[in-house]
Formats: sequence, structure tokens, C-alpha cells
Amino acid sequence: MNQNPIAIAIHGGCGMLEEELRNPQHWAAVRTALSAALQAGWRVLAAGGAALDAVEAAVVVMEDSAHFNSGHGAALNAAGEHELDAAIMDGSDLRAGAVCAVRTIRNPVRAARAVLEQGDCVLLCGAAADQFAERCGMAPVPNSYFTTAQRSAALAALKARMRGGSSTLASEAERHGTVGAVALDRAGNLAAATSTGGFNNKAPGRVGDTPIIGAGTYAANGVCAVSCTGQGEIFIRHVAAHEIAARLRYAGQGLAQASEEMVFKELSGHGIGAGLVALDAAGNVAAPFNTNGMARGWIGADGVAWVATHAPLHRAGDQG
Ligand code: ASP
Repeated sequence: MNQNPIAIAIHGGCGMLEEELRNPQHWAAVRTALSAALQAGWRVLAAGGAALDAVEAAVVVMEDSAHFNSGHGAALNAAGEHELDAAIMDGSDLRAGAVCAVRTIRNPVRAARAVLEQGDCVLLCGAAADQFAERCGMAPVPNSYFTTAQRSAALAALKARMRGGSSTLASEAERHGTVGAVALDRAGNLAAATSTGGFNNKAPGRVGDTPIIGAGTYAANGVCAVSCTGQGEIFIRHVAAHEIAARLRYAGQGLAQASEEMVFKELSGHGIGAGLVALDAAGNVAAPFNTNGMARGWIGADGVAWVATHAPLHRAGDQG
């Protein structure tokens, strides 16, 4: 009996250091973290679980990893504090949940999921979202839990650049990053989730595209699921994730064409770093980016896992 395909794709942000700035062990460790996230999601799908659970599981692994700009290891804002954004969307019924500018939730994607499940609203912000998560049983963490030496150094370096008038020369890696996942389950349901610390040195209170449904995160059954990374303001203005779905739905474009035109024409036209992962209803994956690298990975219907940080793809082993 033919089964419906299952698939998952993830990203760990398109703000990527030049490959030669770190040793091969560093990049191998990033690929191991990507592989762990992929496997967490794939296990859910392979057991017949829901795409919504798979994207949450994959994003939690990346939030807990210091390699990515989300959860532990998130970027610091201009005040030297963390304000985190996350969203999750169920393509089967368009339910969605998001939190923004949260400061004490260890796994913001879990709080976003709780918002989705509660159903009263789609987006909860700031202290109210922190308190909501606590009421849902998520023990708060101190804001310093999210800080790593690397992020503190990145903030200090960017502030020094600004004082020296060279902030426009800051690399994508110095400035931003995000994590995200899209999945297709056996029942044909699509889901997407995204989580971020946002931009290094961002203004307190600044919210990017990640928690804005349709901008950085979108899923609709029968069409596609999309999770974005890059300068959020431009993704919001393009309503980028939803526009990819609209191109599939109304313009007859395929996933690759719609995703690539969004990144290489629409978003690149603003001179920003941009990337995304997307999955269509047949399990096809698109993962375009216009920066020097994007942490990414996917497992398609054949069960083979691929991960990458820069150009070369690495087979991450048979995921059975
Ligand atoms: N999109 C995120 C934001 O603007 C940052 C990123 O993806 O790198 O907050």
C-alpha cells in the first residue's frame, strides 16, 4: 500500500560566518546540531505523528543549542538583554500561535504552541506572554540563561563598529540568525515553526517577521509551509511566507520558482540577507538563500537526511 510521503526541512538562519573563520570541527558541530533537530522532527513523523508536533520538536532542539540565534545562544538587544520571538502554524486548519519580545521562556516555540492551543488570540507579547507561559507550566528562566560569550562579544563588536561608523560593514553573521522548521505528515498536514533572538543590537521592543503569521511563518494544507530568515522588516513588508503560498495557489508557480523569486528577486532587491525553507504538499523541499551560507537540512520521503552550513550538502546518515 502506498503511503503518503512525509518530509521535514529546517534552517538555523542565513546569518552565517564565512567558512574559513571557524575550523572544520566547529562546522561539524553545527551539522550535528542540525541533524539532531531533524531527527527529533522526523521521529514524530515516522511514528505517524502530526506535522505540528514535528516542527515544534525540531525547533526546541535548535533553541536549546548555543549554535543558533534562538533560545540559549540568542542575540542580545541594544540594552544587552534578550527579547525572543516565535511562531507556529498548523496548515490543516490555519490555527496559529506566536509570542514576541519574551524574556523568560526557555523555549519560546512551546509558548507559541500553547497560544495556538488556547485559541483566544494568535500573538501574545512581552511580559503578558512570559506570564502566560508560566501559567501553562513552563518554568521561567533568568534572561541571562540565553546569553553566551559569543553573543556578548558580537554585541560589543557591533557597538564598537557603530562608534567607529562602520556598522554597515558588519557581516550577516554578526547581525542576525533564526531557526525554523516545516513538515508534512502522513495525513497530508503541513506545519511551520520559527524562533529567533532577532537582530544583534536591535532596539528594545523591536519585533521582526518571525512571529508575524504570513511574514516569517506560514502553512496551509495542500499548498506549502514556509519558515523565513533574514531582515524581518522586509519580510513583513512583503508578507513573504504567505506570498510564496499565494504564488503556488493563484499564479500556478511551483515551490522552487516561488521560493527563489521571493529570495533572489523580491527580497534581494532590498539589499538584505534572506533565506527560507519551504515544503509543498508533495513533500518537495526548497531552501534558497542569498548569503554566504544558511544552516539547513531536510529529510525527504526517502528517509535520507541532508545537512549543510555553506554550499556543500552532507549526508547525515540514514534516518530510517
Ligand atoms: N528574521 C529575523 C528577524 O528579523 C532575523 C533572522 O532571521 O536572521 O528578527
